[in-house]
Amino acid sequence: MQGFALYPFDPPGDILALRADLRAWLTDHQPQGDIVERANCWASFDAGFSRALGAAGYIGMTLPARYGGGDRHPLERYVVIEELLAAGAPVGAHWIADRQTGPLILRYGSEEQRQRYLPGIAKGELYACIGLSEPGAGSDLAAVRTSARETAEGWRIKGQKIWTTGAHLSHVILALVRTEEGSERNAGLSQLLVDLDTPGITIRPIIDMAGNHDFNEIFFDDVLVPHGALIGTRGEGWKQVTAELGLERSGPERYLSSHALLAALIDAAGCDPDPAVAALIGELTAEMWTLRQLSMSTAAKLAAGEDPMVEASVVKELGNAFEQDMPRRVQAVIDCGWDDDADLARLLRALLIASPSFSLRGGTREVIRGIIARGLGLR
Ligand SMILES: Cc1cc2nc3c(=O)[nH]c(=O)nc-3n(C[C@H](O)[C@H](O)[C@H](O)COP(=O)(O)OP(=O)(O)OC[C@H]3O[C@@H](n4cnc5c(N)ncnc54)[C@H](O)[C@@H]3O)c2cc1C
Repeated sequence: MQGFALYPFDPPGDILALRADLRAWLTDHQPQGDIVERANCWASFDAGFSRALGAAGYIGMTLPARYGGGDRHPLERYVVIEELLAAGAPVGAHWIADRQTGPLILRYGSEEQRQRYLPGIAKGELYACIGLSEPGAGSDLAAVRTSARETAEGWRIKGQKIWTTGAHLSHVILALVRTEEGSERNAGLSQLLVDLDTPGITIRPIIDMAGNHDFNEIFFDDVLVPHGALIGTRGEGWKQVTAELGLERSGPERYLSSHALLAALIDAAGCDPDPAVAALIGELTAEMWTLRQLSMSTAAKLAAGEDPMVEASVVKELGNAFEQDMPRRVQAVIDCGWDDDADLARLLRALLIASPSFSLRGGTREVIRGIIARGLGLR
């Protein structure tokens, strides 16, 4: 990559009408959640909201109609996601299934798997979680040790996953497992789609330092799943996971997690803001606008069938840096105490605690920078 090639973001159809329709729908369906919950909206679980959103055709938008999808263009989906996140809509329940599990099943799954899982995903009723990380394999996924052995009855799985967001609320886990005995590194890995109510699976909560239960540990104790649980090709798990991560890294969620703080700052600033506050609002707005252009360009490149691994990593890294710095920059220009219960202060406190994790989820900063450096020919 010589530079960040900007692709035109040119979705088909009447995009202004799409935005207007969704905004009108949201006015009728937006739950009046607390500002802190709305800021963390892609982790907020609300099955009723997901079901209604699915019924309105805003989930599984890019899946084919024969599987209950909307047959829409990926850039139309981008616009919808942007509107949902900007509004702080609670999309957490279906988020992972819609963003990556559904597209992955469509691309690699068998016809039977597509028919079995995709309609439920598109309805906003079937939720999935990502089973990559293990105690000894987070950034280094090639160190995955959870094993699955093929037997006459099916696959027998043994091992442990960790940091699994939403496992306690999901129906299935897409787990990366070692299917070839004695295989090393990225060879011999496969993906299994496992129903989470299968006997032998134990899900234990991990409570984060804000007191929230998003993460879990999952133990597989000789779990038997059918042969049909294998997604894609045996031994090709590494390649499939890499494609999945491309979907995870460059969406609007990479710069729309802390944005509620900017909106709250603008609301609190009023018509005659302090000059330092006004200057910060200007800076943050300009940076967010730039990130949006980079993210939209990457989405356009993905939609054109290319593999913008490096661009997606640039968006993730710059988006994470923006979102992590924002709370500290806001803290530096406003006068608020730790016990202040105004919206702005509560949101600031929540994001000061949560934002360090933004550069871990989806791949840590050091690893992402390594990918960018390789793309630039620097390593
Ligand atoms: C909010 C959140 C949600 C998550 N959700 C999920 C989920 O749903 N499913 C899931 O499977 N995982 C999930 N994770 C886990 C996440 O993907 C891992 O935390 C991440 O991949 C890092 O792995 P690790 O924590 O084991 O750190 P390690 O891999 O042990 O890394 C520790 C440190 O070493 C650095 N490091 C590691 N390798 C290199 C290298 N080659 N070069 C330079 N530095 C390196 C890392 O950057 C990091 O600073 C989530 C994490 C967070 C924070």
